[in-house]
Amino acid sequence: CQRGDSLDLSNKGDSRWPRQNSLSMKEWDIPYDELRLFEVIGTGRFGTVYRGSWHGAVAVKVLHVHSLSDDCVPLDTFKHEVATFRKTRHENLVLFMGACMKPPRLAIVTSLCKGMTLYTHIHLRKDKFTANKSVIVAQQISQGMGYLHARGIIHKDLKTKNIFLENGKVVITDFGLFSVTKLCFGNNLRGDSLGIPAGWLCYLAPELCRALTPHASLILPFSKATDVYAFGTVWYELLCGEYPFKSQPPEAVIWQVGKGVKQSLASMQASRDIKDILMLCWSYRSHERPDFPALLSTLQKLPRKRLARSPSHPVHLSRSADS
Ligand code: ATP
Repeated sequence: CQRGDSLDLSNKGDSRWPRQNSLSMKEWDIPYDELRLFEVIGTGRFGTVYRGSWHGAVAVKVLHVHSLSDDCVPLDTFKHEVATFRKTRHENLVLFMGACMKPPRLAIVTSLCKGMTLYTHIHLRKDKFTANKSVIVAQQISQGMGYLHARGIIHKDLKTKNIFLENGKVVITDFGLFSVTKLCFGNNLRGDSLGIPAGWLCYLAPELCRALTPHASLILPFSKATDVYAFGTVWYELLCGEYPFKSQPPEAVIWQVGKGVKQSLASMQASRDIKDILMLCWSYRSHERPDFPALLSTLQKLPRKRLARSPSHPVHLSRSADS
């Protein structure tokens, strides 16, 4: 039902619909006891991800809710953000299967991604992505992100740690949940200081850097354009094998990016077209950044070097960068 899909958990909307909404939310509520949790895959700042089983193999992200307080996001917001998940069906997005929504056990259940994240490929294994491979990966990210944006969903945390490569196919995870999980459940806020998670800053657009204050976590001005800025950083990592502003202290990065300084591309071995994409995504003014359909079209027009066959989808990367 169309109306049921435009969920308003605050019940501020059309008063005829809350019951229907709560019914449709129930379809996505997974009783915690139905889940079987196996080993821990990894622990992020805001949750622990387990390999689990629920009608087959799944990944279960159990949120750290011990520090849930009045200052933090209320349960309704968690439910609302979970509701955005269920609207997503795209081959480049992780499959959302449901959520445990009864505190203190809050968890998100998704399909289990095989393969490795781009972060693991680029920063841990030091796999090299040629320009052609980078373009193919970037096209798939643009496709998934374009879909998310068309559904009105802002990722808010696009980064190589949240992009899997499964046999050459890109799978984006962790979208839309930033305000619930980020800088809220964790221990990032210590007094008046802002804890900056490692590897996070270089994805933040100038307008986000300027808005960073110790208590700004929930009012950061995320937008489709801030996702595009983050995509620019992913594009840089793919091409250069490292983060921009590498080994600079957080204060220096915030100050420079906030003022519009960009990572220099002088030593980057890449064509003008490729660098132009980067500069456009990193535009200081958010309205000057392209949207994902425009990026996809630009990426598709880039000349390919020595591409032996047409880039059918999904594309198989060479062993060095494949999962
Ligand atoms: P943070 O969220 O703190 O920025 P992170 O992305 O490493 O860091 P999580 O998102 O909690 O933290 O993920 C923890 C681990 O679980 C990571 O190694 C991540 O790659 C893995 N993971 C997350 N979702 C899935 C999934 N659907 N399938 C397989 N592994 C997953």
